[in-house]
Amino acid sequence: MIDSSLKDIAAALRDRKVSAVELATESLARIEARNPKVNAFVTVDREGALTAARAADQRIAAGTAGPLTGIPLAHKDVFCTEGVRTTCGSKMLANFVSPYDAHVVTLLRQAGAVMVGKTNMDEFAMGSSNENSHFGPTRNPWHTDTVPGGSSGGSAAAVAARLVPIATGTDTGGSIRQPASLCGITGIKPTYGTVSRYGMIAYASSLDQGGAFGYSAEDCALLLSAMSGHDPRDSTSLERDTEDYSAALDKPLAGLRVGLPTEFFAAGMSDDVRAAVDAAIAEYRKLGATTVEVSLPNARLAIPAYYVIAPAEASSNLSRFDGVRYGHRAADYSDLNDMYCKSRAQGFGDEVKRRILVGTYVLSHGYYDAYYIKAQKLRRLIANDFQAAFQKCDVIASPVSPSVAFGIGEKSGDPVQMYLSDIYTIAVNLAGLPALSHPAGFGSGDLPVGLQLIGNYFGEARLLNAAHQFQQVTDWHARVPAGF
Ligand code: GLN
Repeated sequence: MIDSSLKDIAAALRDRKVSAVELATESLARIEARNPKVNAFVTVDREGALTAARAADQRIAAGTAGPLTGIPLAHKDVFCTEGVRTTCGSKMLANFVSPYDAHVVTLLRQAGAVMVGKTNMDEFAMGSSNENSHFGPTRNPWHTDTVPGGSSGGSAAAVAARLVPIATGTDTGGSIRQPASLCGITGIKPTYGTVSRYGMIAYASSLDQGGAFGYSAEDCALLLSAMSGHDPRDSTSLERDTEDYSAALDKPLAGLRVGLPTEFFAAGMSDDVRAAVDAAIAEYRKLGATTVEVSLPNARLAIPAYYVIAPAEASSNLSRFDGVRYGHRAADYSDLNDMYCKSRAQGFGDEVKRRILVGTYVLSHGYYDAYYIKAQKLRRLIANDFQAAFQKCDVIASPVSPSVAFGIGEKSGDPVQMYLSDIYTIAVNLAGLPALSHPAGFGSGDLPVGLQLIGNYFGEARLLNAAHQFQQVTDWHARVPAGF
């Protein structure tokens, strides 16, 4: 049953064809059987899941269930969960049990969703392949020698492998869209400030945003509706009314203006990705959309700007992991300074250390203006380009990732190659815009290719509407990897 749409699962629950306890049991059994192949979960909470499922069944019996009541769900291990450890993919937090829930976790608990566990991720959400996890790499269910993408690779793999129908993720530079693309599922990152960051372990605070993974845009709309909304505990949370992202899914696409950025289609994308992306855009034309060329001249500066701003914020955010306030503490040390040094040297992995070093450097007195301030100015230019483009179009379509899933180990020795995986996604975070990835076909090695749709601020409903209409006439999103 858990490979069905959320709507069908909810109907089956309502009609008593299945119970929430049966759904949780099904999800837990699949995790037990299939997770060893993909390593998508860091922690499984069997007891918690069954307790939540029993409560959901009572709610269903009482007639007070919502659309997510009784639905099994996984949280990226960046969201704090009271009583269940939250590792952020790091040795630093391998034994950390949060005393409170992240706002997103609270909202989904209140909605009656049943958390079965926490998913693997690149350490502190830094990475594009999930190879930076202290808990070992997650594998792509479509081909287990390839990466699922990152940093929310565990959540994407868990949904693609049909271990859970929905999962949460976070996206700082592409970490929802890129793994969604590489794993052949749908994933959305909303406008910055839509999903509360309270209890979501911070990587780069001005870029981090929570979002949703599902089999389809329709399912993502349900999950995103439940997890977004104003939260006074997050000062960057937007003071807007909560939105029902499912309301406009059925709107026809006639007249939709789809912008195609010249720079994204110029070079860099592999031929198999281009073929799938072109075919998907042709499908949108058949649905009544028109296409128009737009330009994002400063998008080429997105990766350099991001790799100044994100490490700068990370170096500040990660200073709290010192073995005193939080995290791993070295067993032997001579004095306080030695304890800090040894605890952080042991607790953080190489990529995290690299970013702390870069971030500290760009924020240092002599270099702040040359790097950090300059990067912030580029950020403004990039955001302005999008506003100019949205004068001519309603949504922007582009590839998500320059290639299909790459091999485990293929890029892990070359950070710059790894950083380039996010060449089409990072500008969106710098501008704070909403964007999604939906399955658009298959490329070399029969691996999935995604299409990115980028909207203007608060354009989530339109993006989900477009993807939903696309999914009414295509079945890429319904394909399941062999053996799962
Ligand atoms: N791959 C990018 C990075 O390593 C983005 C990660 C993310 O979105 N969390 O920073």
